[in-house]
Amino acid sequence: MLEVNDVHKHYNKAGAWLRRERQEVLRGVSFSIRQGECAGLVGESGSGKSTLSRIVMGLEAPASGTVRLEGEAIAVWKKRNRGQMSVVFQDYTTSVNSRFTVSDIIAEPLEKGGKEIKERRIRNLLEQVELSPLLSNRYPHELSGGQLQRVCIARAISTQPRFVVLDEALSSLDVSVQAQVLLLLRQLKQELNLTYLFIAHDLQTITNLCDKVLFLYKGTIVETLPSSQLYGAKNEYARRLLNSVIAFEGVGRECEKEAGRWR
Ligand code: ADP
Ligand code: MG
Repeated sequence: MLEVNDVHKHYNKAGAWLRRERQEVLRGVSFSIRQGECAGLVGESGSGKSTLSRIVMGLEAPASGTVRLEGEAIAVWKKRNRGQMSVVFQDYTTSVNSRFTVSDIIAEPLEKGGKEIKERRIRNLLEQVELSPLLSNRYPHELSGGQLQRVCIARAISTQPRFVVLDEALSSLDVSVQAQVLLLLRQLKQELNLTYLFIAHDLQTITNLCDKVLFLYKGTIVETLPSSQLYGAKNEYARRLLNSVIAFEGVGRECEKEAGRWR
């Protein structure tokens, strides 16, 4: 589905354009994602994940290297497959118009059609993200964070995309809400055979949903592993990230045991 080959990207350092100082953000990134596969991309903040996602979506051009979707250059693919790629960002509060109702937000990318067809489609989409149709006339400030992020997901799948990029889409949600939304994303993946690029700065959410994990460190993919074989990581950065998760889960299990003892 997606093929990224030797992508480089740099920005001019702020205030240094006269001296032409550059910050290398991506230094030869290559990876691919098969149709129906979910690839997780992890990396510390500032490692270039969002830059890479903008390049993958064709919103920004790489300095060199190529991005191809189903064998076509990204710009060509997008023209031919309108609405088939969508994105969910981390900051759901600024990615919706606060004067739009839930219905308006979801209907925004929909083709113009009959009112009834649209309303039915909106009801279906709300159902798919497990939101009550009673919410459709509410405004963003009348929803919880988890509800609003679901609305953003409903909007993202409203055009029946085949490829969805989620850039830290769950990072600002509570852990329990994250789990719900993850479950939802997994269901949608199965039902609609979606291909995902799922970006996060930690591993917790990624392993749950993704088939494979790409570790981005200092501008390159230092390791790629199937989710089921993360323990085989060789790269030091990948191991460090993994160790922090294992420690975290270990603590969780200990707490469970401790709680069991007192029940
Ligand atoms: P991440 O999403 O992993 O946190 P980003 O891709 O947002 O990382 O940013 C990577 C680096 O590139 C950061 O140091 C950031 O300051 C820089 N950067 C990102 N976008 C721009 C831009 N439009 N202009 C200049 N520098 C940028
Ligand atoms: Mg980012």
